[in-house]
Amino acid sequence: MLKHADLADFTEITPTAQIETGRHGWRAKCLQRLIRLDMPVPQTVALPTETVRAIAAGQLPDTQRIAEVFGPDFLVSVRSSPENPEWGGPGTVLNVGMNDAVHARLIGSHGQEAADALYLRFVQLYATNVARLDPDMFHEDPGPGALKAALATYRAETDDDFPQSPARQMAEVLRSMARAWEGTTARLLRQAKGAPAEAVLGLLVQRMALGIGPGLSGSGTMQFVDSVTGTPRITGRFRGQSQGRKASVETLYLTKDPRGASLEEADPEVFGQLVDYGGRCRGKLREEMQVEFTIESGKVAVIDAVRVSRSARAAVKIAVALAQDGVISREDALLRVEPRALTELLHYQVDPRGTRELLARGIAASPGAATGRIVFSAAAAQAAAARDEACILVRRETVPEDVRGMHASVAVLTERGGMTSHAAVIARGLGLPCIAGCADISINPRDRTMTAQDGRTFREGDVITVDGTNGEVLAGSTAMLEPALDDGFRTLLHWADNVRDIGIRANADTPDDARTARMFEAEGIGLARTEHMFFDEDRLTVMREMIFADTPNDRRVALERLLPMQRADFSALFDIMAGQPVCIRLFDPPLHEFLPHDREGMRELAEALDRPLSEVTRRCEALREFNPMLGMRGVRLGVTVPEIYDMQARAIFEAAVEAGRRGAPVVPEVMIPLVSAAREAEIVKTRIDAVAAAVRTEMKAQFSYRLGVMVETPRAALRAGEIAEFADFLSFGTNDLTQMTYGLSRDDAGRFMSTYVKQGVYAEDPFHILDVEGVGELLLIGAGRGRGARPGVTISVCGEHGGNPESIAFCRAAGFDYVSCSPFRVPVARLAAAHFALLAPRKRAGF
Ligand code: PEP
Ligand code: MG
Repeated sequence: MLKHADLADFTEITPTAQIETGRHGWRAKCLQRLIRLDMPVPQTVALPTETVRAIAAGQLPDTQRIAEVFGPDFLVSVRSSPENPEWGGPGTVLNVGMNDAVHARLIGSHGQEAADALYLRFVQLYATNVARLDPDMFHEDPGPGALKAALATYRAETDDDFPQSPARQMAEVLRSMARAWEGTTARLLRQAKGAPAEAVLGLLVQRMALGIGPGLSGSGTMQFVDSVTGTPRITGRFRGQSQGRKASVETLYLTKDPRGASLEEADPEVFGQLVDYGGRCRGKLREEMQVEFTIESGKVAVIDAVRVSRSARAAVKIAVALAQDGVISREDALLRVEPRALTELLHYQVDPRGTRELLARGIAASPGAATGRIVFSAAAAQAAAARDEACILVRRETVPEDVRGMHASVAVLTERGGMTSHAAVIARGLGLPCIAGCADISINPRDRTMTAQDGRTFREGDVITVDGTNGEVLAGSTAMLEPALDDGFRTLLHWADNVRDIGIRANADTPDDARTARMFEAEGIGLARTEHMFFDEDRLTVMREMIFADTPNDRRVALERLLPMQRADFSALFDIMAGQPVCIRLFDPPLHEFLPHDREGMRELAEALDRPLSEVTRRCEALREFNPMLGMRGVRLGVTVPEIYDMQARAIFEAAVEAGRRGAPVVPEVMIPLVSAAREAEIVKTRIDAVAAAVRTEMKAQFSYRLGVMVETPRAALRAGEIAEFADFLSFGTNDLTQMTYGLSRDDAGRFMSTYVKQGVYAEDPFHILDVEGVGELLLIGAGRGRGARPGVTISVCGEHGGNPESIAFCRAAGFDYVSCSPFRVPVARLAAAHFALLAPRKRAGF
């Protein structure tokens, strides 16, 4: 025999009742707050989570006692109240208590049509949610005969009359809602939104406020900010003579509108009352709320209020406005914006309010959206850019030769590849929208067409839109939202800067990167890679001459031609960064990367160098390595071919002196890559000190500089104490350090990474998320030993991980001075660092 659930502690919500979010759910707590704010909330009873759990387990609720609260002939709604509104919950059931007797009474007071509509609504909800009958059988709209038909269908399908006892109706509704919460799908859905496995539900029984009656009656919602932009604006809906979303009779605009009648004009007093309630919510609940209300013959009831759903840009605007109005603190404002969501603000986005014609879906590989004409080659992209035409580079996949074409495009679309494919990585670095792995399209490079799954064919020059934020390819152009680097964004990030306790720099190689870094207010450049500077056509030849030089003197001649070019590169960076630190890494890649790889290239090189082809071929062969990433690169070049670093150091110092004469003084930072032994740093330091001394004398200038070492090999981390003797700063290159700690090629691991992650061998791709257990331990050891030997040494991370919030948390907890990441990740890093500073007081690891 089933027992009644113990409902002794169900609670009527009053200003002083013991209502707790953890026990009764957020909606119960929210309604209590509305009541405390003197809003006309219909009488509501809250069932705590333990009661709901007992009901789901099969105990019958003693609804007779709840019914007594509402008196005879009641009509109530039953609403779910989970602890967190994000976790969903079963839908509301309206008009519980409706039966033939109440129906008859309502015919007298509200007329046949209204009474029928209310009863029909309940039968529909009850039949589908409680009796679990097929919704298709109950979809009729209100109208003559609809109620009778629904009751007859119910009888036919259940072999039973529609239940007439309000207490039984309520018991069944409560039971079906309690059970729905326990269902597997509901469980999975809420867990996907972050709910814990043991999340529980509270339920509310609320007296119905009917949106029908003589005079102004209806139901609606009203909010006071725009969900997309976050700007103050009244939006929502109001339907006359209606309940919830159905049974619409007449729709009014909320505010005065030339297109038709409005609630504001129909009843200014009611309208004013609702606006006042919105203001009270904002001021006292400290949040922008959407108010759900009904009006019965001019009398307002507030039946619910929920946090306004919002885009990332609206979230920023709302949080900043609430803090500026003194409603919340700046710290609260910071914590209300999810750092990763800021990415959405840095790029153009497709306006969600506009129309979109979906062509295909792929992997959202780089955020932002752009419209342009299709081009199928890098050359066509450059030609389009020369004509000032926005173009989208569409390729099966991209290769390094396409980079110029990517620069010339406004977005990239590839048929193959994933998040770490060439196209994706380069596009993210450039801040270009990119969709990769778009198998829905097939590209025919020969006849320069692209075919969508629906058979439509697009030619070069046709216009499409790439939405890299959600991976959608759209036909033609669409309405766009501009990047929102507005006052709100800047203000929020300045507040973040005031609380964060770890520095954020940018990795920037080019003047464009440096300008982006400035725009996002990075605190300097943490890594300027110099090798790309040698790939320009005119420099490549000189570079090759340098590589082929037979004597140090010949090499010096070639390097003297490179010197002014490098000096100009560094001058540009120093000027843009206006006195902020700029950390320049000396030449890192294996030399053979600069040599041609095919016969045709060799022939051209032989011609350019005026040497026999056989000699060029032989020299290229001689430079080839079995394992170039572990071979003659980084500091090993600096030790064996020191003239390259000499030239770079000279270019850096001369540029610094000149930039200092033009503007703010510059203290350049010079960084040595791929060190594994202290002696390497010592040798390079000796030469660079000598170059600095020479430049001081020649230019009659005093300047200082800082020399640092990249910790990219496990040995460098282990011997950081000795290395620090020659280094003002140690910067962890976690890309190479991860590669070398795992013995895992960063260029090839993509092939099996997904299998490894799927099988749980690695929790995550360690090239994306810092492996705190292994690589992280090396970071701690390196930082500890470095600081132990040289207490003031600056410690940082400049690998890709530097922009990842979890890695920032790790570096911060370990007391690192700064992280450096790609410019477009700087805003996320600034806000994430502020979150960590607010949520966890800084502890230094034990060194
Ligand atoms: C690194 O190895 O982490 C690094 C920053 O250098 P690169 O990616 O240029 O090898
Ligand atoms: Mg490296």
